[in-house]
Amino acid sequence: MKILFVSSEVVPFSKTGGLADVAGALPIALKNLGHDVRIATPQYRTTNDEKFGLQKNINEIHVHFQHDTYTATIKSANLPGTSMPVYFICNDYYFNRQELYTAGGKDYPDNAQRFAFFCMASLWMLPALEWKPDVIHCNDWQTALIPTYLKHHLYIRTNEFYNDIKVLYTIHNLAFQGSFDRNTLNSIGLGWEVYTIDGLEFFGDINLMKAGIVFSDEITTVSEMYAQEIQTPEYGCGLDGILRVRGDHLTGIMNGIDYAIWSPDGDKLIPSGYTLQNMRGKTTCKKHLQKKNHLPVNKDIPLIGMISRLAAQKGFDLISQIADDLFAMDIQFVLLGTGEPHYERIVKDIGGKYPEKAGINVMFNNQIAHEIEAGADMFLMPSLYEPCGLNQLYSMKYGTVPIVRKTGGLADSVLDATPDAIAQGTGTGFVFEKYDAATLLLTIKRAVEIYTKHKKTWKKLQENGMVQDYSWTASAKRYEGLYKRMTGESS
Ligand code: ADP
Repeated sequence: MKILFVSSEVVPFSKTGGLADVAGALPIALKNLGHDVRIATPQYRTTNDEKFGLQKNINEIHVHFQHDTYTATIKSANLPGTSMPVYFICNDYYFNRQELYTAGGKDYPDNAQRFAFFCMASLWMLPALEWKPDVIHCNDWQTALIPTYLKHHLYIRTNEFYNDIKVLYTIHNLAFQGSFDRNTLNSIGLGWEVYTIDGLEFFGDINLMKAGIVFSDEITTVSEMYAQEIQTPEYGCGLDGILRVRGDHLTGIMNGIDYAIWSPDGDKLIPSGYTLQNMRGKTTCKKHLQKKNHLPVNKDIPLIGMISRLAAQKGFDLISQIADDLFAMDIQFVLLGTGEPHYERIVKDIGGKYPEKAGINVMFNNQIAHEIEAGADMFLMPSLYEPCGLNQLYSMKYGTVPIVRKTGGLADSVLDATPDAIAQGTGTGFVFEKYDAATLLLTIKRAVEIYTKHKKTWKKLQENGMVQDYSWTASAKRYEGLYKRMTGESS
């Protein structure tokens, strides 16, 4: 089967979050199942031609919108270390910018036009490449205009080349919807006929996430629990109704992780590798992390790690409420994150107030992310909601016991260390349900108590996590099943 995987970010070329990790790994797992898979993504400033060996593939394609025509260059390179072709949609005006989506914490005002261009160019390049996919796998609102154009753009829907191409649309985070003023419609090549309650219209604006949900053949999201949650008003971000309508075509498939990148025995970014059989390297990693963060070097103090976008979703309101009680305990805390200025201030204040206990790194840095996964004892994810979450999966592999709220993919992947679960050897972390500060604090205390007083139990929890298998193979097979269902190929 021919599959075009379209994503606005792909590791290692560009990344702001988990979507990039998925886009750099799932296509490979699909290719390993025998499919002809190719990726399309924008070339941003970070995607350096020399560094990644980009070659010009098509000098100029003309991308037709309603009244205007724009040009794109198509370059290509293989995903490093693989034979996976990646097509880069290049247009300096739209994509040669400092950040992917924002400047100074605010969305670029032309994001609708930028990603409309990306979608349209991804479609227009296909005849030029003489490659027609059976399925286009779209991801989040930045790609949601692809199913929309296939059904409603005059040039595309009347062009025979595009007949019968099916679309699978994956929701990685329902909260980011690509909502724009309705008068944007014309500039993204669409007419008022799609501005209906069954189309892009959403409370007087246009909503691209909704377009993806309405116009795609199948919809997936990144864990089974989140697939259920988003059909409720509490988690549905206003789109729960339309998701219930499309419920028969909505499937939850848990993300996998790429163990070639995230595994403590082969990780080149950490000071010392280690395995389940020989964990000494983890102590070296902890020392290194403590030194780097100017914390007292002591292997017995429980060290809590966190790597996160600084956003309300990730539970920073709870952390700010418990900070004084947390740092009254004999613990250390190392955080890596960037995001909303309000939360950047909160975490910097914590760092200023508790320099002996907290290492606060307000930046985006892959190296430090690996160092935290390896060097911390526990990993904190008190999310309000979490579609899948990757760091709890990385943490389990690194023997870093996750402390999570029971929501979305966190609920699906971390099993609470209740006395029963510990006795049966099934617990992998600490899970709490109620989104409130006191419950979070109690859960951290529960973890710290086991870490300091019950070493054997702690070791068992680490082991239980390290043997979990979240490789992509099983999830890729489920996507394959959906592709076959859409195209009518029997599985
Ligand atoms: P989300 O996509 O909601 O941000 P995920 O847990 O699915 O959350 O994925 C986040 C990914 O981004 C992980 O790979 C995580 O390690 C990485 N990440 C988040 N913040 C940073 C940061 N400041 N520096 C480096 N990596 C980060």
